[in-house]
Amino acid sequence: MAGQGHVLKTLINSLDNDRLHHAYLFTGTRGVGKTTIARILARCLNCEEGVTSEPCGKCSACREIDEGRFIDLIEVDAASRTKVEDTRELLDNVQYTPTRGRYKVYLIDEVHMLSGHSFNALLKTLEEPPPHVKFLLATTDPQKLPITVLSRCLQFNLKNISPERLVEHIKHILQEEKIPYEEPALWQLGRAAQGSVRDCLTLLDQAIGYCEGNITDAEVRAFLGTIDQGVIHELIDALIAQDAATVLGIIESAADHAPDFSAVLSDLQSYLHRMAIAQAVPEGIDNAQGDRDKVLAHASQLPAETVQLYYQVALKGREDMPFAIDARSGLEMALLRMIAFAPVGAGLNAPAAGSGGESVKKKSLLSERPAAPAAQEQEPVAKNNAPSPKVTETPVAVRQGSRKPAPPEPAVDKAPVPLEPEPAGKQAAKPVAEPVPVPDDALPAEKVSLKAFRPVHWIEVFSQLPLDGITRNIAANCLVGEVKGSQIALVLDAGQMSVFNEEQQRRINAALDSYFGEEVQLTIAPGPIDAETPAAWRMRMDNERLQAAIETFRNDETVKAIVDTFSGAIQPDSIEPTSPRQYTDKRMK
Ligand SMILES: [Zn+2]
Repeated sequence: MAGQGHVLKTLINSLDNDRLHHAYLFTGTRGVGKTTIARILARCLNCEEGVTSEPCGKCSACREIDEGRFIDLIEVDAASRTKVEDTRELLDNVQYTPTRGRYKVYLIDEVHMLSGHSFNALLKTLEEPPPHVKFLLATTDPQKLPITVLSRCLQFNLKNISPERLVEHIKHILQEEKIPYEEPALWQLGRAAQGSVRDCLTLLDQAIGYCEGNITDAEVRAFLGTIDQGVIHELIDALIAQDAATVLGIIESAADHAPDFSAVLSDLQSYLHRMAIAQAVPEGIDNAQGDRDKVLAHASQLPAETVQLYYQVALKGREDMPFAIDARSGLEMALLRMIAFAPVGAGLNAPAAGSGGESVKKKSLLSERPAAPAAQEQEPVAKNNAPSPKVTETPVAVRQGSRKPAPPEPAVDKAPVPLEPEPAGKQAAKPVAEPVPVPDDALPAEKVSLKAFRPVHWIEVFSQLPLDGITRNIAANCLVGEVKGSQIALVLDAGQMSVFNEEQQRRINAALDSYFGEEVQLTIAPGPIDAETPAAWRMRMDNERLQAAIETFRNDETVKAIVDTFSGAIQPDSIEPTSPRQYTDKRMK
């Protein structure tokens, strides 16, 4: 009775303490073991060695129950006996004492299928049960039982069996039988069984037959008509890299196996759902397909809002599927739409998608912006226009995802350089079709020494402080008032004082110590904000980048094509040239 420990424990207690009920109701989906548990209970009640939670299994009562020929175990499938006469006939004999056993046990499967009259007949007996009778009722649908029947039964809800447990179970069987198998194949069977041990065993039997004794992933996939999850993983990799050519290549090669393309899209949607869960509640992610680690890794490589966007596109793509020329083009369009609509540099730490792994050296936190020109030039348009997309040989780079700001680089003792953010007018003068300029990309990454530190350096220094959460927000709303030797006085926007406390001061101080590589005596006090704080600067930059992004977006050929194809309209509000970190910052504001 794998996976039903909670039910067994209660039953064992009641058997061992002689607290027997006269009617038990077992509920749960098909194949989870309702009738199995009922038959075991029948043995417990009738074992010749006495009522016990451990029937001997050897006496004639135990053996006959096992073999289905025990005269005092009356099994009824209500699905086939719903007429009231049947139930009457069945219950007519209730009054007679058992022929052989201690109890006359009525096992009524699918009890919800009884007619109203039959229920009334059953109810009469349940109201005044003869002491030698036990009712074991089983149903997949307890809602259909009259409350009068429910209230007279001790109810046990059997849980669905998790894919893990099913896989464990059939793996054990295969090992015993010395049948070779590939593990991913077992996960497919475990998932297809939908929590039912019986279905899982049936599928296993069929798979053994189909695969002629060697259970391979590919054959089970063909047999079940399921999608190779490897294809889904590859597609997600390609989406992270925003690599349209690879996406089309994967579909091209998958086409050889004539898969159900609309099922690929459903599976992709389901995978994105799991990624979203992994991002929100990492411990909540199930291992139903044996790929929990993969889901978690993928989840760390995309911002949550991009996963939401992809999910939405997949959902819409499935809705539109009936109108697509064929399922394959429907799938392709949905995936290309994901790439077209993804925020630039959707992948975390994806500085130059598809640029053959060339890494862009990370500079300061501020310059680590998503809209790197290299990524911009890799427009999907160019690739989509390629005459016949092939599988690219370039492996899809799996980028290491990290949501934490890069730790500050080791201190470089150099003379300070002017650190004023670039004037904003510069990018506005450029033609709109140009890639979105990264206004702060020109900022040098060199550290400022404590000796050279001046209020004007604050925005750059702040950007490299290892701070997060409220503390980061507090620091972002500060200006540097005065620097004297190792003493730094920060002026905090009075509006932020309500959330400020000593702990935050301590953390900011520690961050400054670590940045400058020496001890700083920090004071923070409220005061007038007469210059641009890091928070205000970030807001201004975001706004400027947003305006530039909207322009670029409007002029993008892919966007134009998509707007035409889907009769779409651009909602400027929805455009956000943002990296996850900025998103976080924005939320803090
Ligand atoms: Zn026995």
